[in-house]
Amino acid sequence: MKRATFKGGIHPDGHKELTSNLPTVVAPIPDRVYIPLSQHTGAPCVPLVVAGDEVKKGQKIGMAKAFVSAPIHASVSGKVVGIEVMEHPGGSFVPCIIIENDHREEWAETVQPAADPAALTPEELRAIILEAGIVGQGGATFPTHVKYAPVAGKKIDTVILNGVECEPYLTADHRLMLERPERIVAGLGYMLRSIGCTQGVIAIEENKMDAVAVMEKAIASQPNLRVVVLKEKYPQGSEKQLIYACTGKELPVGELPLSVGVIVNNVGTAASFADAVELGIPLIERYVTVSGPGICHPANYLVRIGTLFSELIKESGGYLGEVEKIIAGGPMMGKTVFSDELPVVKGTSGIVLLHKEPHRAQKEYPCVRCAKCIDACPAFLEPTSLARLAKRSAWEEAEKADAMSCIECSSCVYACPAQIPLIQYIRRAKQAILAAKAR
Ligand code: SF4
Ligand code: SF4
Repeated sequence: MKRATFKGGIHPDGHKELTSNLPTVVAPIPDRVYIPLSQHTGAPCVPLVVAGDEVKKGQKIGMAKAFVSAPIHASVSGKVVGIEVMEHPGGSFVPCIIIENDHREEWAETVQPAADPAALTPEELRAIILEAGIVGQGGATFPTHVKYAPVAGKKIDTVILNGVECEPYLTADHRLMLERPERIVAGLGYMLRSIGCTQGVIAIEENKMDAVAVMEKAIASQPNLRVVVLKEKYPQGSEKQLIYACTGKELPVGELPLSVGVIVNNVGTAASFADAVELGIPLIERYVTVSGPGICHPANYLVRIGTLFSELIKESGGYLGEVEKIIAGGPMMGKTVFSDELPVVKGTSGIVLLHKEPHRAQKEYPCVRCAKCIDACPAFLEPTSLARLAKRSAWEEAEKADAMSCIECSSCVYACPAQIPLIQYIRRAKQAILAAKAR
């Protein structure tokens, strides 16, 4: 059967078999958690606690002071012992609230189940997800309440739940679909209600047919929801490519999905949405894959936000062999980090540990004009030309050649036989273009 997909893209080895059949394990709750004040796209939070304060699980400890922001909550009960700047999985350094866990697991009084979730108005639903600090859990961490804020003159006709998980090694969303399908479907229902939309789509790649079966069963009584099975291809889960594959709509450059009447959310975000609406539980834990050749026992964990990577690595039996890279997220779009002493945040979908690739020399060869990068680019760019323009700092020409449409998916780098780090050149061009605009 021909599956829907997008144009371009690549087929990297998935390595999903390392963890896809392993039931999710509840990770040990650490003695200390480190909760960054910024775990989302937008303005960082302002702390609501100081060293010495006692906090309860689910208590709001950081306040969002801008519309594009999201509050943060204590993931354990205990005592605040400090606020210190730490490395963040996103690559920056941010202040983190450090809580010494008292292991009493006492919930904050604010965490209360809804008396009648079915009676909540769209405004009340949106207020709940703002207060619960729900953000996109696929990696982009865009605050969910912002996506669902109505915009005058724009009508949302479809909410797409992204269960594609096209990054190699990652299987956390796959396991979530198998293990918590009813929470995902409940969350999708609240999402639709909160924006007055009727059609819901759950998009899953063809390499997860067990999840397709489970999700189809979970939506069987709801004719306005459907599962769309997509071809296995990277970056199928990128927003623009996903919208095209599911609806045939082309998202114009620089526009939000809203402009074509669509909202896209990760399946994990939907499950958290349901927990917030029905149980009053804010986003304090998530599914995380720990995998790759550099870990003894790959696994999926349900992890409290603020748990250090090192604790999950230890739980997985420690490092295996000589690990060259620790990646927060998947190997294609994730960030290489320089330590394992950094915390799991709301957007941490995985921790991937890689060895040095012996067959891949760390050298850039001259371009052989094979056009493989052009064929691979899902954004229809000419990565080789953009890299050439960036090398000679021709920023205006790079902008005209559409450098800003690059979604930084690394498909061109993967396809390039000359091992040219095309994405690094293109990123440089994008930064220069943005800096010029800011000036
Ligand atoms: S140019 Fe950008 S969008 Fe195109 S393949 Fe390379 S990284 Fe992906
Ligand atoms: S894939 Fe590499 S070698 Fe081939 S055209 Fe692109 S940049 Fe040149």
